[in-house]
This record gives sequence, C-alpha cells and structure tokens, in this order.
Amino acid sequence: MATLVDHASQLLTMAGPEIPRASRDRDRLGLLRDGAVLIDAGKIVAAGPRDRVLAHPLAQGAGRISAGHRVVTPGFVDAHTHPVFAEPRLDDFEARLSGATYAEIAERGGGILWTVRGVRGTPESDLAAGLRRRAFDFLACGTTTIEAKSGYGLDLENELKLLRAIRTVAGRGPLEIVPTLLGAHAVPPELKGRKDEYVASVCGEMIPRAAAEGLAKFVDVFCEDGYFSVADFEKVADAGAKAGLGLKVHSEQLSRLGSLAVAARRGAVSADHLDCADASDCATLAAGSTVACLVPGSNYFLAKPYPPARALLDAGAAVALATDFNPGTCPCWDMRVILSIACTQLRMTPAEALVAATINGAHAAGLGLTHGSLEPGKAADLVCHDAEDYRELAYWLSAPKVRWTMKRGAVVSGEA
Ligand SMILES: [Zn+2]
Repeated sequence: MATLVDHASQLLTMAGPEIPRASRDRDRLGLLRDGAVLIDAGKIVAAGPRDRVLAHPLAQGAGRISAGHRVVTPGFVDAHTHPVFAEPRLDDFEARLSGATYAEIAERGGGILWTVRGVRGTPESDLAAGLRRRAFDFLACGTTTIEAKSGYGLDLENELKLLRAIRTVAGRGPLEIVPTLLGAHAVPPELKGRKDEYVASVCGEMIPRAAAEGLAKFVDVFCEDGYFSVADFEKVADAGAKAGLGLKVHSEQLSRLGSLAVAARRGAVSADHLDCADASDCATLAAGSTVACLVPGSNYFLAKPYPPARALLDAGAAVALATDFNPGTCPCWDMRVILSIACTQLRMTPAEALVAATINGAHAAGLGLTHGSLEPGKAADLVCHDAEDYRELAYWLSAPKVRWTMKRGAVVSGEA
C-alpha cells in the first residue's frame, strides 16, 4: 500500500539539478506550504503541491500520515563519521581541558592509538552491537544515512573487522551506512617510523581485500603533517581507483598541504575539514564536482578556528555539513547541533545549512542521485520536526524534537 504524507507547515523538497548544489542553488529548499509526498515500495512516487499529489492514481487508498502542520525535510545525510569504536576518550577530554597538548596526550597513551588498542581488543560482534545502538541515536536525531569510516584498526585484520561490523549493522538497517576504508588514518604503533611500509600494506593488502569482499565504497586518507603526505594520498588514491573504490580525503585541516587540489583533480566525491583552505582552493572546488564537506563540530569541540564556509560558498563551491562523529574530536551525532554551529559560527544561512545537511551531504556520500531530496524515484527518507518554520532547526540548539523519522517509507523512530 502506498503512503501519503501531507499537512506539513513547510515541506522542504530540495528539488533541483542532479549535481551538488552551489551558487544559485546553494539555498534552494524547494519549499512548499501545503505540500505532500506520496510513497510506494520505499521510494517517492510524487512530491509537490498537495492537490497535484492527491491526483496521482496511487493516492487513492494510500495510508495517510499527517505531519500536523510541522516542518518535513529529507532525512539528514551525514557524510563523515567514525562511529565504530569501543569506548569514549574521557581521559583525553579531561587532560585537554587541563591544558595538555595533543602530543602530551599521545605520549601518555591517549589519542587515536588509544582507540586503536580498544578496537583491537574488542570482538567484531561487540563493535557491531555498539554501532547498532548508535545507529538508533542517529535516527532519533533525523539522520537516515551516514558514511562510516574504519581507521581504528590500522592492520589488515582489524580494519576488515571494523568494515565487517559496519556491514553487519548496515545489513540489519534501518540506518543506511556507506562504508569507507580509512586505513591511512595513522601509522600503527608496531610500524612507528616505517610509514612507507604501512602505506604499501594499505595499498597492496587492505584496499584490494576490502574491495574484493565488497566491504567499502570509498577510500579515505588523513592527509596531514606527521601522518600521511600528498604523495601517500596519491598512492592510496591510485590503489583505490584500481580496486574500483571512490575517493574521499581529510584535507587541509591542521595545515595546508595541497591535498584539496589533488582530490579535485582526481574527482573525489568530497574533500573534508578544509580549515586551512585558501582562496585558490575555494576556486578549485568551484570549478569541479568535489564537495567541500565541513565538519565544524570538531572545531567546536577542540576550540579551533572554523573552516572558511562563507568564502567557499561565495566562490561557488558546493558545501556539505557532517558531524565527524568520533570518540576523540567530535562526540556529536546530532546534525541539528551542526546546523546551529554552521549558522552561528560559519555564517551560513539556515537554508544553506539545510541544503548542505541533506542533498549536498548525499552527494558527498556518493548518493546524490538517489538520496537527499524529496523527488520521484528517490529513497523515501523523511523527517518530521516539531517546528513550524525550517529556520527553527538551526535556531533551537539541538532541538526542536524530531517527531518521527522515516526510512524508505517506514517510520523507524518516533511516532507518526
Ligand atoms: Zn574524520
């Protein structure tokens, strides 16, 4: 049976061209005041003015869900997360607040490598159980799809273990998860000082295995001073391309190494962070199809300067927003918090932020043609917010409440 969602105070369809939204389209919400969405078999059949949708043959006899004069948007697509880990890094948090530097925290056994030890010592089934609990937290906050990275295993066995945990949870649903192999996240402690050896193993073992087992759609690299160079990034990108995987990159975050230009030249779906991007980087992104995926929750949590969102948008780059949810630098899975930070700190408008959190997030996860907007043929991923005006989503901090979240036509969180 088909389902009809109607009586939204504002229906944000995000309808528009089939490319990442930029320039004139960067704040195009496709806002309808008396809109409706007709859904069948998990996909959107029609979305538009209520009268027109009601005229569709499938609307006769469809089950009805009234939005009760609330805002309805596409589900958030969170295109950058690290959600598979054992424990939060509470000791690091406290130490940093007391003035310890990143290097000092790493020296006393904290940081990424602490999370790596936790993951290596945790069975795959426990990692999957943790991720499954978190999946419902995402859904409760209106996120219907996430991209999820490995990167806390740092050897073949443990990177595959993380990706298999992701596959298990993705297979059970309802949260949709796009898996990314982030083998090049840090050099593992057992190969300290032997980075080239590790990069060779990422390229020669991890990537081919992950691709052969269908465990990853993308490869990603932490391209940063002291971690992986642009030359390493190119090697991983080559290996990923050879294995048929798409490309993402942690780019120009703590320093500007030039990875953004490489990502754009290679047609990466996204270049992420970009705190140190300059005007020429903004122009490079504006000229190509790579999405600037900004994760300002990590800047907030670490009290670091924010990325140049205004310069990127004004230059004509397509901008996505994501949480960067992870146990070290951004313990936030709530896209509504990110909307607030994007507007108050990055000076994005509420409309720009919502485009960035939905359709451009979908493009940054390689799903722009099937997700992120309410258009015929796309996944019926909808969220009903306890708000009458879409600007409230960025105005109330971590609120208004999500009334219900729908994934592929079924209400999976809250009550309709
Ligand atoms: Zn990240």
